[in-house]
Amino acid sequence: MIYLDNAATTKPYPEAVAHYATVCSEYFNPAALYSSAVDCARKIATCKMNTLKYLRAADDDDLYFTSGGTESDNWALFGTKKQKGGRIIVSEGEHDAVINPAKELSAQGYDVVFAPINPDGSVNEAEFVKLLTPAVTLVSIMHASNETGAVNDIKRLVNLVKTRCPKALFHSDGVQAVGKIAVNLRALGVDLYSISAHKLHGLKGIGALYVKKGVSLKPIIYGGGQQKGMRSGTENLPMVSSFAFSLSKSCAEIETSSAECQKYTAMLRQGILEGLPTTKIITPENCALPNVLTVAFDGIRGEVLLHALEKQGIVVGIGSACSSHHESRFKRLLDLDNSHRDGIVRFSVSRFTTEEEIEQTIVAVCDSALKLADYAQK
Ligand code: PLP
Repeated sequence: MIYLDNAATTKPYPEAVAHYATVCSEYFNPAALYSSAVDCARKIATCKMNTLKYLRAADDDDLYFTSGGTESDNWALFGTKKQKGGRIIVSEGEHDAVINPAKELSAQGYDVVFAPINPDGSVNEAEFVKLLTPAVTLVSIMHASNETGAVNDIKRLVNLVKTRCPKALFHSDGVQAVGKIAVNLRALGVDLYSISAHKLHGLKGIGALYVKKGVSLKPIIYGGGQQKGMRSGTENLPMVSSFAFSLSKSCAEIETSSAECQKYTAMLRQGILEGLPTTKIITPENCALPNVLTVAFDGIRGEVLLHALEKQGIVVGIGSACSSHHESRFKRLLDLDNSHRDGIVRFSVSRFTTEEEIEQTIVAVCDSALKLADYAQK
């Protein structure tokens, strides 16, 4: 199989799986008092410190392990201290893990506004600035789009928010960015940042929420008081440890892997445009993740091309794997003409992708798209 749907999930590093299996033998409850358990708690604390270090956070910033990106996003939106009825800004291009909590907050009486996006999926800065009133209490803008790979200039957006609305908190969903581009949380200036292991060759069901020192956050899960009472539930050393491993490996390899991924998405961009010149490339050439290329084919349906490629052993995405509803919402936002609107396909490569796979994919995509367009016209 040629797997080109790494924005949906990545193949775990074999070492991350092996690491998980090995650490499973350390099954003691980290909250218990005997030495084997205390040792597990100590190892979790080390993973936390290392995770902060890989993300270039300060040592006294906080980080809590969660069940993944969805929980981290929900926690950032629901758990932050917000001025009653205040304004919450989220971008229209956010993942549903942010959009749906935002809708719930709107139902609870907050003034939730959606910042428009550009045709490449990035936040429209000029429109964003217009939304920054003194009533803004929380902003949530993703670091990189899961749909198009467009990277938002988070540092700039944070500065805009902090100068105009000094009390507002800034959360960024970094689920697609971490492991793909270098992340320096202190330089970005965010108050909260979400991460998920399965997007960086780790396992599913583990992630983290970064919380800058001094940011007031309440739990959304109550129970036995684990993780300083902030996120109850028995701590899972094997998962935490495997996550920290995947993060460290992704960060250590980031330069070489991102150069390789960039080469492959550039090959795809060029190859597809040469073979199918009326295709529209949605992913911006600059300011994008190195591993994502989203395109809109002319006169064919993305879903039909996906299945045609699957028959040839090539797996691609047509946008967020999480919900078909989200996909149609996103399509509407991209401002595409009728002949391209239904033709969106997302290619997302990884450090496991090879040049031969990309060459094979370009041929298969061009052949299949031409046949399908021909068929559609008959
Ligand atoms: N945020 C973004 C941008 C994502 O791409 C995803 C997953 O597709 C999530 C959040 C949800 O993360 P998880 O699958 O770990 O819950």
